Amino acid sequence: EFDVPLGAVVKLCNSGQIHVLDDEGNEHWLSSLNATNIKPMHPTSVHGVADMICLGDLNEAGILRNLLIRYREHLIYTYTGSILVAVNPYQLLPIYTADHIRLYTRKKVGEMPPHIFAIADNCYFSMRRSAKDQCCVISGESGAGKTESTKLILQFLASISGQHSWIEKQVLEATPILEAFGNAKTIRNDNSSRFGKYIDIHFNIRGAIEGARIEQYLLEKSRVCRQTQDERNYHIFYCMLQGMSPDMKKKLYLGNAVDYDYLTMGNCVVCDGRDDLKEYSNILSAMKVLMFTDTESWEISKLLAAILHIGNLRFEARMHDNMDACMVLCSVNLTTAAALLEVDPEEVMSCLTSRTLVTRGETVSTLLNVEQGLDVRDAFIKGIYGRLFVWIVDKINAAIYKPPPSDCKYMQTSIGLLDIFGFENFVINSFEQLCINFANENLQQFFVHHVFKLEQEEYNLEGIRWQHIEFTDNQDALDMIAIKPMNIISLIDEESRFPKGTDVTMLNKLNSQHKLNPIYIPPKHSRETVFGIQHFAGTVYYETAGFLEKNRDGLHGDIIQLIYTSSNKFIKQIFQTDLAMGAETRKRSPTLSGQFKRSLDLLMKTLGACQPFFVRCIKPNEFKKPMLFERVLCIRQLCYSGMMETIRIRHTGYPIRYTFAEFVDRYRVLVPDVKPAFKQGNMKVACQCILETIVGRGEDWQMGKTKIFLKDHHDVRLEMERDTA
Ligand code: ATP
Ligand code: MG
Repeated sequence: EFDVPLGAVVKLCNSGQIHVLDDEGNEHWLSSLNATNIKPMHPTSVHGVADMICLGDLNEAGILRNLLIRYREHLIYTYTGSILVAVNPYQLLPIYTADHIRLYTRKKVGEMPPHIFAIADNCYFSMRRSAKDQCCVISGESGAGKTESTKLILQFLASISGQHSWIEKQVLEATPILEAFGNAKTIRNDNSSRFGKYIDIHFNIRGAIEGARIEQYLLEKSRVCRQTQDERNYHIFYCMLQGMSPDMKKKLYLGNAVDYDYLTMGNCVVCDGRDDLKEYSNILSAMKVLMFTDTESWEISKLLAAILHIGNLRFEARMHDNMDACMVLCSVNLTTAAALLEVDPEEVMSCLTSRTLVTRGETVSTLLNVEQGLDVRDAFIKGIYGRLFVWIVDKINAAIYKPPPSDCKYMQTSIGLLDIFGFENFVINSFEQLCINFANENLQQFFVHHVFKLEQEEYNLEGIRWQHIEFTDNQDALDMIAIKPMNIISLIDEESRFPKGTDVTMLNKLNSQHKLNPIYIPPKHSRETVFGIQHFAGTVYYETAGFLEKNRDGLHGDIIQLIYTSSNKFIKQIFQTDLAMGAETRKRSPTLSGQFKRSLDLLMKTLGACQPFFVRCIKPNEFKKPMLFERVLCIRQLCYSGMMETIRIRHTGYPIRYTFAEFVDRYRVLVPDVKPAFKQGNMKVACQCILETIVGRGEDWQMGKTKIFLKDHHDVRLEMERDTA
């Protein structure tokens, strides 16, 4: 049996042609001239292994084949050393029962087949043993299974904490609330998280859950106003319209999802397999558990209703003094929205059709055209929803976060779970993708450093000389994006604050600053608005149109003024920070990228102080279907996941390792009179003898304390000799 890239079984036929049967059962005929590309499959690759670090073919093809073989047998979990690879099964597997939790409790990694519970168990007992904080970084692209994995780990931890306490329940019930307000149906995932989150779970000295804290990152606010084909707005809207009692709906003048512009842009109001009605009662009961009062729930509903009504406002163009202007048609939507927000409808109208500018102490009002009016409206709505989301997360934290008293004598340790958007590279990438990929550059560096450190530890443990082993990380990309002076983020920020700054002037600055940097790709023509960055996972081109607007993320003063006049206490509360600022301070308030960079810095600091675990989720197909494994898709994700980095680091050192016994038994046939391992007095000597005879004395292999460390070509040599022996 042989292996060609992407895995295959090969037979040499009498005709001289090579008959290739790939892992999907497709036949190929190759002339023997192409046979140079064909390499013998390593014996470990034939049937698949639970830990890919043992693969002789620790390369793309080997890993892919291994995942495929296992996936076909419903073995969705596989290790690569301490990293867990999880392939989304898109079907409910019977492997998450209470029995499974018990089976995986207090086990060493490797003692049981790979499983997400094994990672959770390891995190927990490693925390208990070392009294050190742990974290688990869960990554993968949209639909790969990050959120489901996070929930499974939470479930395991709650179960092992075992108190059946109120706080355990609260920590678990935070999820349905976050998902209601932060998840939506997209074409990639029916329950796509449109924000990143870090859940830090705190344990007391007895190992019971004592509290938790949730940090959220970059909610996709634009979704509240716009959805592309076959996508929905956030679940909560549809749930509310399905589940709220007719009585209450009447009070909010609410109809059905189809009645609202903001809910129908994707031409999709229902989502197969989701029961919005049932979900609504789950959300309400979860909110009760998390101490949302009835008044608060009602106030939230009022805001959601106001959003829907404002989305239905009709704008019409008009001329004023020969200038394009616009007006908002009087409608029940306008009066209802104003009533719910407890503001004057006239004021709402004037906010959406004109803008007050203060220059040199003078106040002038300019009229907006239809397009500008709609922009202001959408910015207002995004402003409300974004702040509502932050308020909800704060509210949840208020219930579950129990900071230890300052005179606390005992230690609190924690496990953090990071469920955050993976690397993104779409046909058109914008500011959001830049932020997301910047986050992923950080996580990648964290990952690579960890993997390298583990390698060093193994070398040290085995007494192997490794000082000559080098690796490169992605520091260059991080430097250019956010660290060195005049980095990309800081230039975007500078331009965002500059009143005359535009996307074009910003791009010019990026170009003049970075055009000589080999990982920066300037636009080809002066008219082009796209620049590229060579990220660790590939080159991404960013469309700069709209960058500054998105980064400024501002609401103009008239809107803030409108809220100031409102008698609705709740909306004033969620806009508290904005209202507390003067107009000048607001102008200097942090930009989106500034805020994001700061929270990311904090996250990296937190992660850096933890013992990390990694879960790499893989989406095997784009159709949400069980038992369908698309190789090209998976290979791309393996690259994005940084897994190839593990391989590269291993290959710069000694990728092939055998214990002395394994080595003796496998290769003693090559040297006369070497006894089998169990009869060996000194196995190390026997190994040395085989190596010196077959591979040679001067070669770069090393004997550790328990293992032999070989380069790839040594292994090839040994295997070839063994085949002919
Ligand atoms: P996004 O980035 O869009 O939030 P995600 O990585 O969080 O994506 P999930 O929402 O966790 O993806 O998973 C998508 C879907 O895949 C789930 O709704 C579920 O149907 C299925 N799925 C994921 N993991 C599993 C699993 N272990 N068992 C069964 N089904 C799963
Ligand atoms: Mg998710």
